[in-house]
Amino acid sequence: MLHSASPTAYVPSERLAERATCPNCGATAALSAGVIHLGHYDHEGEVREGLLWTCSDKCFLSWEHPSFMKKC
Ligand SMILES: [Zn+2]
Repeated sequence: MLHSASPTAYVPSERLAERATCPNCGATAALSAGVIHLGHYDHEGEVREGLLWTCSDKCFLSWEHPSFMKKC
């Protein structure tokens, strides 16, 4: 399951130049240079879904799998 979208679909144009830190690799990049996915994360022991910015699809996949799979 891979939901991927361009940040331009979610981020107002005036914010696309803002920099964000990738939760997987720690790289800092402009929002417009990364990708937004529907990710799963742990919120107080519950798996939740939410939009997640990462610098690349590869980082999304390597971030999502360990954090989601460990709850299964
Ligand atoms: Zn990254």
